[in-house]
Amino acid sequence: MIELTFTEVIIALAYLAAGILFIVGLKGLTSPRTARKGNRMAAVGMLVAIVATIVFLVAVEELSSTTAWAIIAAGIVVGGAIGAFLALRVQMVDMPQLVAAFNGFGGGASALVASAVVVGTDALLPTEIGVTTALSLAIGAVTLTGSMIAYAKLQGLIGGKPVAIPGGPATNAVIAGLMLIVAVFAVVTNSPAAYWGATALALVLGVTAVLPIGGADMPVVISLLNSFSGLAAAMAGFTIENQALIIGGALVGAAGMILTLDMSVAMNRSIANILFSGFGGTVASDEEIGTKPVKRATAEDAAIALSYAQNVMVVPGYGLAVAQAQHAVKELATALEKRGVNVEYAIHPVAGRMPGHMNVLLAEADVPYDKLLDLDQSNPKFGHTDVVLVIGANDVINPVAHTDENSPIYGMPVLDVEDAATVIVVKRSLSPGFAGIDNPLFYQDGTMMFFSDAKKALEDTVKAVNEL
Ligand code: NDP
Repeated sequence: MIELTFTEVIIALAYLAAGILFIVGLKGLTSPRTARKGNRMAAVGMLVAIVATIVFLVAVEELSSTTAWAIIAAGIVVGGAIGAFLALRVQMVDMPQLVAAFNGFGGGASALVASAVVVGTDALLPTEIGVTTALSLAIGAVTLTGSMIAYAKLQGLIGGKPVAIPGGPATNAVIAGLMLIVAVFAVVTNSPAAYWGATALALVLGVTAVLPIGGADMPVVISLLNSFSGLAAAMAGFTIENQALIIGGALVGAAGMILTLDMSVAMNRSIANILFSGFGGTVASDEEIGTKPVKRATAEDAAIALSYAQNVMVVPGYGLAVAQAQHAVKELATALEKRGVNVEYAIHPVAGRMPGHMNVLLAEADVPYDKLLDLDQSNPKFGHTDVVLVIGANDVINPVAHTDENSPIYGMPVLDVEDAATVIVVKRSLSPGFAGIDNPLFYQDGTMMFFSDAKKALEDTVKAVNEL
């Protein structure tokens, strides 16, 4: 029987408590209503894990020098300050980049933990520790450079177009194969040089695997890399026998993978298609769009149509996020509700640029949760809706997803807004959205195009409603 000291028991219990807080926190993140509480619980879990780790290091006398304490303090102060600064400054539409950066740092941190094990042990590592060390190094390094490329694409530091690498996917397969061989050699021979060789190949693979993917698919790639960062952390947890790291890493790995699969289902595309098709680099030409006549609407036209409707459905999209129009839309809804109009919101699962993007924005503007309908709830309602107000959405309402087998979005479930009596689309031009394709809805009889920045359009419409 293994005998544990009192301190070891307390630390094991603290890690267990941290694990429970992570799980309950993650559960909280499944609904906008409980998301903030969930986030706080997970943060408390992380604090418990950090304190328990420090207590453990003190108990095993690893923290006897002032230098060790200074390094830990510097890590907390510098890391905490950078995290707080970025989180406070980031705009909602730049959130995917922030997540990419955090994933990269997470992967890099796991690789550094595994590196410390390679550097710090002269003796032959037991095979299982060698395996988890190699995995943590490889997955962590791929995540680090892959996330940096994803960050650079989304931030516009490098072009978002797919960048072909010499040899195409075969080159990546060769690099991945070589990495695997060198990693196995490292585990068998315990050679630090081989561990570093596998890490170097993984760093290259992160770059060559993400460069050929179009900027438009980066959110899915980020979600996948998020899953990898969790896996790398879990492997590092096995290497240094830290339960909190294993639990936290496994949760991130599984949650990231589920999210990746959900996103690809919502776009009706396989993960392989996302990783290898170079989607998102093409944009419809001027000849393809904007050549047909459209019915234009002004703020006054919109105000009249909306005020005299019984049921209005708002469809928010990426443009609402860009324009930061969430408060203006709430203001318009309040003005309409005062006139007895029933206003609801149809939220497509991939509207915007990250899952839950619209829910978060509307929650920020205090739109009641029971007014937010998902795709399955809203599609049957459009037939009984008088006016659909589309705000900066495009692909998620594009009927070609049903009709054009050659379209890149064919098969993607979309909001069937054309079933409503009138559709008012607020956007600045006839430019395409994320998928780069024209939208025939704009030219249909029941559709009015209100060309304007979303926030300005909504503010003008509120004014016009109040003057009626
Ligand atoms: P889209 O990207 O299809 O369209 C957004 C529209 O907003 C554009 O056509 C643009 O037109 C308009 N717009 C931009 N800025 C403004 C502004 N200031 N005011 C008014 N309108 C503006 O957005 P959707 O939300 O409809 O679709 C999301 C797309 O993103 C889908 O194709 C989805 O697959 C993809 N995606 C989503 C992910 C997610 O998790 N949510 C992840 C990965 C991809 P204009 O320039 O004329 O104003």
